[in-house]
Amino acid sequence: AGTDTILSVNNIEVIYDHVILVLKGVSLSVPRGGIVALLGANGAGKTTTLKAVSNLLRAERGEVTKGSIVFDGERVDRMTPNELVRRGCIQVMEGRHCFGHLTIEENLLTGAFTRRDGAAAIRRDMEMVYEYFPRLRQRRNSMSGYTSGGEQQMCAIGRALMSRPKMILLDEPSMGLAPQVVEEIFEIVKDLNAKEGVSFLLAEQNTNIALRYATYGYIMETGRIVMDGDAASLRENEDVKEFYLGIG
Ligand code: ATP
Repeated sequence: AGTDTILSVNNIEVIYDHVILVLKGVSLSVPRGGIVALLGANGAGKTTTLKAVSNLLRAERGEVTKGSIVFDGERVDRMTPNELVRRGCIQVMEGRHCFGHLTIEENLLTGAFTRRDGAAAIRRDMEMVYEYFPRLRQRRNSMSGYTSGGEQQMCAIGRALMSRPKMILLDEPSMGLAPQVVEEIFEIVKDLNAKEGVSFLLAEQNTNIALRYATYGYIMETGRIVMDGDAASLRENEDVKEFYLGIG
């Protein structure tokens, strides 16, 4: 705590199943209160990087075998996902992962599971989530499995907010959604960042939108960071334009 960097990933290697080397020395950092984009094609290692931080790797037989991860001033690479959540770092997984047979409101409540404060505080935060996501308020009593893809993505982010995070690791929020809905979600991310001070590390294949909302970006290829810089400079970079923005 007390520094202006909330997350630093230092030269990590990740291996799946003891043999498959997927991350080959990845370093990145996220300033406190920042929105940082992690970009690259399918399979580049973005999801693996996020899971290394949140420690969801273990569930997939993955392991950080080198390097270190510091969140909010503390080494976290040996902690469980729940310990990370309690310290304020939570991942919203790709594919949304709401409980389809629970209502939106019940899904939000599951997000408060690590908290030890009372029902009143949890109610207040649910109200806060509904302020940011009016669509979730409208659909609060619908089973999430019957809501739209955009609403399910909102539900997944809303549920993460119920743990009162300092930082959200957001994996591919644009996936499978119409451009208008993607825009709506990124606007809310921007608001949460500005008003609640939540920091974001955002994995995206949609380079264009990610670089409009992030202030800094890292580009990955086959398990390495190959380029990084201010979002504005990446948008103007000829290689980025050609390979990632499709405007060469
Ligand atoms: P996507 O956008 O598809 O999520 P990504 O950039 O996030 O792509 P990862 O999902 O991190 O990429 O995958 C990086 C590499 O690791 C890929 O080659 C993938 O096949 C491999 N990989 C991912 N998960 C596992 C696993 N559980 N076991 C073995 N290899 C894996």
